[in-house]
Amino acid sequence: MNMHIALVPGDGIGPEIVKEAVRVLDRIASIYGHSITYTTVDAGGVSIDKYGVPLRKEALEACASSDAVLLGAVGGPKWDKVPGDKRPEKALLGLRSGLGLFSNLRPAVIYPELSDASPLKKEIIESGIDILILRELTGGIYFGKRGRSDDGKSAYDTMSYSDGEIRRIAVKAFESAMLRKKHVTLVDKANVLESSRLWRETVSEVAESYPDVTLDYMYVDNASMQLVRNPSQFDVILTENMFGDILSDEASMITGSIGMLPSASLGEGKRGMYEPIHGSAPDIAGKGIANPIATILSAAMMLRYSFSLEKEAAAIENAVKEAISDGVRTADIAEKGDSYLSTSECGDEILRRLV
Ligand code: NAD
Repeated sequence: MNMHIALVPGDGIGPEIVKEAVRVLDRIASIYGHSITYTTVDAGGVSIDKYGVPLRKEALEACASSDAVLLGAVGGPKWDKVPGDKRPEKALLGLRSGLGLFSNLRPAVIYPELSDASPLKKEIIESGIDILILRELTGGIYFGKRGRSDDGKSAYDTMSYSDGEIRRIAVKAFESAMLRKKHVTLVDKANVLESSRLWRETVSEVAESYPDVTLDYMYVDNASMQLVRNPSQFDVILTENMFGDILSDEASMITGSIGMLPSASLGEGKRGMYEPIHGSAPDIAGKGIANPIATILSAAMMLRYSFSLEKEAAAIENAVKEAISDGVRTADIAEKGDSYLSTSECGDEILRRLV
C-alpha cells in the first residue's frame, strides 16, 4: 500500500515524539512492503512564529490532501499572551473542523506492569482496563445556540443533535466494537434530556445492523462512578460531546500515564487525525526525555482506522507491550530513583521488538 501522511510536529516535545513515530512507521513499511510519503506541515506556535497565524490555508490543504494526519502537540508559554483567536490551540480546532472530523476515539489502557501509576486500588484494576471512548466532536452543547438575557443576569446554552449526527458516530462505535470485545455502552442522560432519548432511539436502530455487538445504556452520572468503581466492565463507550469531554479525561486519569495514551479523530471515510492526548510538555521540551509511546500508539491507530492495516497496528501495540513488560521506561513512568531511557532510546527498544 502507498500511504500519504501529513506530519504536524507542532511545538515543545512535538517534533521529538513525532520523529520516533515516523521511525516506527518506516520500519513497519519495510517489514510489510508498504511505501509512505510524508508532507511536513507547520501548525501551532511554530506557524505563528513563521507566518503570524496558527494554521495557514496551505497547511490545512496539505492535511486535507493526505490520507491521514499525525500530530505531535501545539502550544506553550511562549504564546500564552497571544489573543484567543490566534492561539496555537486554534490550529487544532481549525484542523478538526476543516477536515470534518466528528468523532474522537480515545483508548484508556492499563499495562499491568504500570498499575502502580493508577490512582485506583490494585484489586479494582487487576482484571485489566482496556476502554475505547468515542466522543462526538462537532455537535451538542458546545456548538448550540447560547446567549444572555438583556440584563445579563440569565444565560442559556443549547444541546441539540440530529439523528444523522448520531447515526454516523454510532456506526463508528459499532465498527470499532467489532474489532474489540463487541460491547458498546451508550452513555447519556435519557431520564432527563430529550436529545439523549434521540441518541437511544438512533443508536438502537444502528445496533440492528450489528447483531454480534451487545448494546447497553448507562446514565452519565452512573458512568462516571462506574469508571472508578469497576472500569473493566467497559469495552466501547459511545457518548455525546460534553459527556465525552469529561469522561475521556476521567478514563485517562485512571490509567495514570499521560505519556502513553493515543487518540484518533475521524470523519466520513477513512481520513483521520492522530495525536497523543498529552500537550507539548514545555517543561521537558528539548531535553530528549519525553515519552514517545502515546505518539507511536497514535501511529498504530492510524494504520488501523485510516488504512485498515490491522496486522501492522497490532504489531506496533505488541512491540510496546513487550517493551513495557521488559522494563523499558522513560522518566515519566520510571520508579523514583531508577534509571530511565531517552526518547530515542525508547524508540530504539520498540523498533527492536517490531516483527
Ligand atoms: P501537558 O500534557 O503538556 O503536560 C502535563 C505534564 O505531563 C507535564 O509535567 C509534562 O512534562 C508531562 N508530559 C506530557 N506528555 C509527556 C510525555 N510524552 N512524556 C513525558 N511527560 C509528559 O499539559 P500542559 O502542561 O497543561 O500543557 C502544555 C501546553 O500544551 C499548553 O500550551 C497547552 O495548551 C498545550 N496542550 C496541547 C494539546 C494538544 O496539542 N493536543 C493538548 C493539551 C495541552
